[in-house]
Amino acid sequence: MTEVPAPYDQRTAVVTGAGRGIGAAVALRLAADGHRVAVLDLREEDTAATVEAINNSGGKAVGVGADVADAAAVEQAVARIAGELGAPTILVNNAGILRDNLLFKMTDTDWDAVMGVHLRGAFLMSRAVQAHQVQQKWGRIINLSSTSALGNRGQANYAAAKAGIQGFTKTLAIELGRYNVTVNAIAPGFISTDMTRATAERVGVPFEDFVAHAAKEIPVGRAGTPADIAAAASFFAREEASFVSGQVLYVAGGPKA
Ligand code: NAP
Repeated sequence: MTEVPAPYDQRTAVVTGAGRGIGAAVALRLAADGHRVAVLDLREEDTAATVEAINNSGGKAVGVGADVADAAAVEQAVARIAGELGAPTILVNNAGILRDNLLFKMTDTDWDAVMGVHLRGAFLMSRAVQAHQVQQKWGRIINLSSTSALGNRGQANYAAAKAGIQGFTKTLAIELGRYNVTVNAIAPGFISTDMTRATAERVGVPFEDFVAHAAKEIPVGRAGTPADIAAAASFFAREEASFVSGQVLYVAGGPKA
């Protein structure tokens, strides 16, 4: 019989934007998988609930405040994580913001802010963490893209950033493969979080109606949950996923291309 490898060795994971939403669910899932988790968000105090939930259920987590778009803050945060939890070798680039608007109304600031958090943030975090991954000769980078990468009205900045994340993912997979580091992207469809709640508010539709409307268009007939994304992240982080790299997994309740 073929021997099935143990799915999880204990590693140190960093999840950005993990104070709430998808990031919090990913942090909780990686902790349940046995990893030590650095719960990173813009402000350290916003990580308290996630950190408490992990520590109260027998896991080990620390909260770290840092702006992923700030190079010095990222370097400092990753050094602190390495000191407190050990070399970070799993990185989930999840932090994100929306600054939606039609092109003719989109400001320079809207454009730069979205590029800063999603693309520059993923770049800075990956550059800082890869030093540890290369040294440990093991690593996982999991980037959050989106179905918006395929184009979405009112999201020129976000769609460009999320499409950029896919090229970034494939390139890092090529560069880092020789160090036993895999790099993959998850592209969620509609997931019920504060982010989609904010979109509903912006377009003036009650959130429940917004979710119900989205669910009608989704083949499995429901909106996604943060746990759906956490399950995909858990798979990519596994030991036995070591031959899966440079992939974009659409987690959208139906096909996307
Ligand atoms: P969310 O509920 O808005 O959470 C995003 C988190 O990122 C927040 O905790 C936020 O902190 C943090 N963050 C923002 N800017 C940051 C920065 N510069 N540095 C560090 N942390 C920062 O969003 P979500 O819905 O969970 O989305 C998570 C990821 O999935 C994002 O990359 C998003 O684009 C992607 N995604 C979401 C959906 C969806 O339907 N929800 C679909 C496709 C892709 P604050 O609380 O301080 O703002």
